[in-house]
Amino acid sequence: MSSATSGVDFVVVGGGLAGLVSANRAAEAGLSVTLLEAGSETRYAANSRYAGGVLHLAFLDVSAGTEALRRAIVDASAGLRDEALADALAVDGPRVVEWLGLHGAEFGKGGKYPFMAHMLKPFSLRETGFQNHWRGKGGDLLLDRLEASLLAAGGRLLRGARADALEMIDGRCEGVWVQVAGEARRLISARAVLLADGGFSGNPDMVRQYISRRPEQLCKRGAGTGMGDGIRMAQAAGALLTGMDRFYGHVQHAQAVEDESLWPYPVLDIVASSGIVVDGAGRRFADEGLGGVAVANAIAGLDEPLSSFVIVDETIWENAGRAFLLPPNPALERLGATIHRAPDLHGLAASIGMDPSVLAATARDYNAALADGRLGALSPPRTVKPAMLATGAAPLTGPGFLAIPLCAGITYTMGGIAIDAQGAALDTDGRPMAGLYAAGASTGGIEGGANSGYVGGLMKAAVFGLRSAEAVIQNRLTQA
Ligand SMILES: Cc1cc2nc3c(=O)[nH]c(=O)nc-3n(C[C@H](O)[C@H](O)[C@H](O)COP(=O)(O)OP(=O)(O)OC[C@H]3O[C@@H](n4cnc5c(N)ncnc54)[C@H](O)[C@@H]3O)c2cc1C
Repeated sequence: MSSATSGVDFVVVGGGLAGLVSANRAAEAGLSVTLLEAGSETRYAANSRYAGGVLHLAFLDVSAGTEALRRAIVDASAGLRDEALADALAVDGPRVVEWLGLHGAEFGKGGKYPFMAHMLKPFSLRETGFQNHWRGKGGDLLLDRLEASLLAAGGRLLRGARADALEMIDGRCEGVWVQVAGEARRLISARAVLLADGGFSGNPDMVRQYISRRPEQLCKRGAGTGMGDGIRMAQAAGALLTGMDRFYGHVQHAQAVEDESLWPYPVLDIVASSGIVVDGAGRRFADEGLGGVAVANAIAGLDEPLSSFVIVDETIWENAGRAFLLPPNPALERLGATIHRAPDLHGLAASIGMDPSVLAATARDYNAALADGRLGALSPPRTVKPAMLATGAAPLTGPGFLAIPLCAGITYTMGGIAIDAQGAALDTDGRPMAGLYAAGASTGGIEGGANSGYVGGLMKAAVFGLRSAEAVIQNRLTQA
């Protein structure tokens, strides 16, 4: 049974950072706002709640200056080249941080790296494993505070309310259909709708369609609440999708697929960028120098994502293995994760069921290319300039070698609904769709590209959450 309810100015789908920022901004401007959140618990699962909380743009702090930010974003998203979106992030980054501060966010310098100058407090990323990582930390607290300020501004937040279709009339979005548990499916009419439901990392069929033939071999590494509903609804209404084949994530130990004490940290990104990453046959298949997000994407693209290993020697494990927050050495072994060791590469290959001559040849080619300054001539080539959170390539000389089984941790999907700089959804001809907006991890065109460029999920969510609300407010004023 279906029914219609009276209309509001603005319906927001999804109570993560993008949705809550947008709903707050619109409610404070006097619009009637209803936010629909699929989760039914008080502390419903969302990536924003579980986030590490570092507000950065392409690994620069938001105070780096508009031009530096713009350049870094465009460089990171090589191949996407939507400079209007890069401009929006660069221009509004500092404004958004200030706005969040006025709405309950507390910031501190979360680490020695400059890009960590604005990290949500209380700090996350201080303990390994999922359970201790988030409760009472910055992201969790911020969602609570944004919910409270939304209610104080007169907005409504409905829990257990899953939106499933848009109401399109003559090409204009005029509302959204929602299913609340135990109630009849109903239409909420609205002058505008924002889709901010967190992408599709929690939808195995969509992950299989766009990212990996074997979604069951990827580690969840996030809330997994992005079910792809917004993307599917928008596409059915005629929206353009873009950049669907990339995700933000990290290189995790293979046992993280089953064991949540091994994700979100420790990650093996820095270790992978120092040694070589090989498939089950012992051959390199990724450009390790591009960093962990790109390597995780390459792992997910294998026929058998759980067949890959990072190969390092004890020297790399003692150096890169102990770098950055929550390093994998010695945490992984303390947490019960298997690491294979042998005095030489032949013994190592034999212990993991790999052809020793293939692995030895891969390591020999790599060592020779490194010594001769020819890493770019390897197949696949290896980027020499270390990415952020990567160290330079190091030789595999021993004594003592390690093979660590890997998996790709998928945190959120980078592609989705194409938007303009105001957050309006674009149709397949690239024109803004009346009444329909999208923000956060449900949108594409900002991150991804050939190098799986990572710009920053929290800023992407907050900037386009804020901008979409301001566009809706502007339209409401014009129509009044
Ligand atoms: C462990 C971890 C660490 C991270 N660290 C950082 C970091 O330090 N810096 C950074 O920039 N980013 C980080 N991120 C990424 C960042 O958290 C996300 O990119 C960002 O929070 C996305 O916000 P969002 O609002 O788009 O989606 P989400 O926060 O995922 O919110 C989407 C919401 O929509 C709801 N929903 C889904 N479907 C429906 C539906 N049909 N109807 C109604 N509601 C629906 C979901 O339940 C969810 O609550 C991290 C993420 C994780 C998991």
